[in-house]
Amino acid sequence: MALQTIDLTAEYAGIEKLVTALVSTGKKYNIDKIKSAYLFAKKLHEGQYRASGEEYITHPVAVAEIVAGLELDTDSICAALLHDTIEDCGDKVSTDIIRREFGDDVARLVDGLTKMVQIPFEDKEEEHIENLRKMFLAMSKDVRVIFIKLCDRLHNMRTLRAKKDDKRRVIALETMQVFAPLAHRLGMQKMKQELENLSLEYLDPIGYEEISSNIEKRYGESRDFIENLRKTVSDKLTSSGLKFTLEGRVKSVYSIYRKMYLQNKSFDEIFDFYALRVIVDTEEECYIVLGMIHELFSMVPGRFKDYISIPKPNMYRSLHTTVIGKSAIPFEVQIRTKEMHRIAEYGVAAHWKYKSGEESKEDIDRKLGWIAKLIETEDDTRDPEEFLKALKIDIMHDEVFVFTPKGDIITLPQGATVIDFAYAIHSEVGNKMIGAKINGMIVPIDRTPQNGEIVEIITSSASRGPSRDWMKIVTTGEARNKIRQWFKREMRTENIQVGKSEIDREFKRIGTPCTDDQRNEILLNIGRRIGIQDIDDLYNTIGYGGILISKLSARIRDEFDRVVKVEEPRVQTAEDVSTVKNAKKTSGGVEIDGVNGLTVKFAKCCNPLPGDKIVGFITKGYGISVHKSDCRNISENRGKPELAGRFVDARWEKTENSGERFEAQIRIIAVNDIRLIADITMALADMRVSLLGITSNSKGDYTVVELLVACKNLDHFNSIVSRLRSVPNVEQVSRGSAQ
Ligand code: MN
Repeated sequence: MALQTIDLTAEYAGIEKLVTALVSTGKKYNIDKIKSAYLFAKKLHEGQYRASGEEYITHPVAVAEIVAGLELDTDSICAALLHDTIEDCGDKVSTDIIRREFGDDVARLVDGLTKMVQIPFEDKEEEHIENLRKMFLAMSKDVRVIFIKLCDRLHNMRTLRAKKDDKRRVIALETMQVFAPLAHRLGMQKMKQELENLSLEYLDPIGYEEISSNIEKRYGESRDFIENLRKTVSDKLTSSGLKFTLEGRVKSVYSIYRKMYLQNKSFDEIFDFYALRVIVDTEEECYIVLGMIHELFSMVPGRFKDYISIPKPNMYRSLHTTVIGKSAIPFEVQIRTKEMHRIAEYGVAAHWKYKSGEESKEDIDRKLGWIAKLIETEDDTRDPEEFLKALKIDIMHDEVFVFTPKGDIITLPQGATVIDFAYAIHSEVGNKMIGAKINGMIVPIDRTPQNGEIVEIITSSASRGPSRDWMKIVTTGEARNKIRQWFKREMRTENIQVGKSEIDREFKRIGTPCTDDQRNEILLNIGRRIGIQDIDDLYNTIGYGGILISKLSARIRDEFDRVVKVEEPRVQTAEDVSTVKNAKKTSGGVEIDGVNGLTVKFAKCCNPLPGDKIVGFITKGYGISVHKSDCRNISENRGKPELAGRFVDARWEKTENSGERFEAQIRIIAVNDIRLIADITMALADMRVSLLGITSNSKGDYTVVELLVACKNLDHFNSIVSRLRSVPNVEQVSRGSAQ
C-alpha cells in the first residue's frame, strides 16, 4: 500500500517525515497533490529565511505536520504548505494561480489564511483587529481555516525564541488573549494547553520557571501517593471486570498559574495539582466508575460536575469529581469514554474528521454558530475596538447555563443579561420583549441570570421594539447586533435624524463655523475611513449605533482642522505652542538646515525625543516646530502644495547628556487593580523619572493609563517603557500621542 510514497527523491526530502506519517495512518490521502503543493511553496519561498536562520519552507512543512496530526484532509495539508505564499510572495503568486493549480477549496483556505494588509488604517491596532475579523469571517465559512491557523500559531509559538524580545511579548499576548481561548471554544484542549504554556513562558518567564520547578519537586515528593492512588483505583476497577485505561496527569503550568493568580494562592496552597483519568467504553460505565470512586474516597462537596448530561458548549463531555483519600490530599478524577476523550483532546477537529458528509457539516455549523454570530457584525460595525471587545467577551468568558420555561438549555457568557437571553432565543423574542421573569419572579431587564435559573421573557405584540438604551445594557455581541439590525431596518429616517443631530452637536462643540461644503468634505473624509461613501449612510450608521459618536469626535476635530484651517495646520495653533514646555529653549539641541535665528519648539502632537527622526515646520509667527518625521500631522500635510517649502530638515545635535528633559507620552493598558496607579508611580519614582501628568480610564476589565513623563532621550524612554512592562497587571506599554 505504501508504494506511492517510497520514491522520495532529494527534491522531496523536506516532506519525507510528513508523507511517511500520512501513509502510516492507512487513510486515503492524495500524496501527489501534497508533494506538488510542497514543491510549489518551496520554490516561492526560495531564498527566504526564518528568524532562526532556517530556510523558510521548514515552517509551512512543520505546520502541515501538525495539521496532519489533527487528521485533517489532503486539502488542509496542501493549504498549510501554501499558507504563507500569498502574503510573503504576493508579487509572484495570487489566489487565482493557487485555484488553478490546487482547486477551489485549497485556494479558499489559503486566502482565509492570508492576512489582508491593504486597508488604509491609521494605526497598527486597527489593521490588526481587521485581520482578526477577516480570519473569523473566513473560519465561519470553513472551519478548517481556523484549525490550520491554530497549527500555524502553535508552530510560531514553539519557535518564538528566535524572535526579538518585544515581538515575542506581543505575539505571546495575542496567543493568550485570542488563540488559546479560541482553541478552548473549539474544544481543542491539547492545543489550548500548549499555547497557554508557551505564552506564559514569554509573558511571565519567572513565574513559569518557578511553577514548573515546583511541579517537578512536588511530583517527586508525591510519587508514593500517586502510585498508591493508581493501584487502589486500578484494583477496584479490575475486580469489577471492567475494561478501562487509567491515565495520571499533573495539571498544566498555566492552569496552576491561573489558580494562584485568580485565587491569590501560593503554590503550596494548590492541592489538586494531580488528576486521575479513567477511560472506559460506554457512557453507563462512566457512572459505574463514578460510583466506585465515591465508594473508595470521600467526595469533596460542590466539586462534582456532570458534563455528560450537560456537555460544555465546546462539546466537552466527562464526569469530574474531586475526592480525598486517607492521605488527606484532594485530587480530581475525570471519567469519560474513548469517544469523549478524543473530543476532549481535539474538539471540533475530532468531530470534523470523524464524520463526513452533509449531516455532520450541519452539525458542525450548529456547533460553530457562535462564530457566525460574532461575524454578523461584519457589515454593521465599523468599530474595530468594539469588535475586539465582543470577540473577547464571546470567546473568553465562561458560560452560564440557564433554562427556558420549556426546559431547553441556553448558554450565555458570564455577565449576560436577560435581554441577551431574549436575543439568544430569537431576535423576535428580543424585539418584542417588555419584561422578564427569573424563577417566576419579575426582574429588572439588566438582571444577570445565574447557572440553573429558569428565565422567562415576557413579550407583547404591542411592543414598539427595543430601546436604544438596551445597547448600553447588553453584553453579548449577538444581542447588540440584533438590536442594531432592528434599528437599521426599521428606523432609517429616524436614525438619520439622530445621527445628524449628534454630528451637529460635535460641530457646535468645536465652536468655529464652517461652510456646508466644508462640512460635507469633513464628513465624507470620515466616512471613507470607515468604508461609508454617503453622508446619509454615515448619519444612519451613527443613528443605529453602528459606530459611536464618541469614537468619531477626535476624527471630526482632526478633519475640521485639516479642511477648515488648512492655512494654519493644527500643529502651530497658539494653544499648542504655549503648552510646549521646551519652548523657551532656543535650539533645544536641534540643528535646522538652512534656517537661522528662528525659535525652535517641540510639537505637542508627537513630542519628539532625541534619537527620533525629526523634521521641522516653519510656522507663521512661532518659529520652527519640530515633529517626529512619522507624525501624522506631518505626513498628512507634507504633500500639500500650499505648504511646500515650509518643511525643513532637522536633526539632533550630538551633545550628550545636556541634562535637558523632554516630555514624552506613555500609554499603558493594564488589568484593573486598585494598586495599579500606586505601582506605576512607584516604578517611576524608583527610576527617578518625573511624572508631569497622569490620567486613567477604565474600560471593562482593563484600565488605560496615560502618562506624561520627562525623559532624556529615546534610549532613556525605552528603558522607562521596559521597566513599566514589569509592573504587575500591566499588559501593554506603548508610546502615546496627543491625539
Ligand atoms: Mn505561518
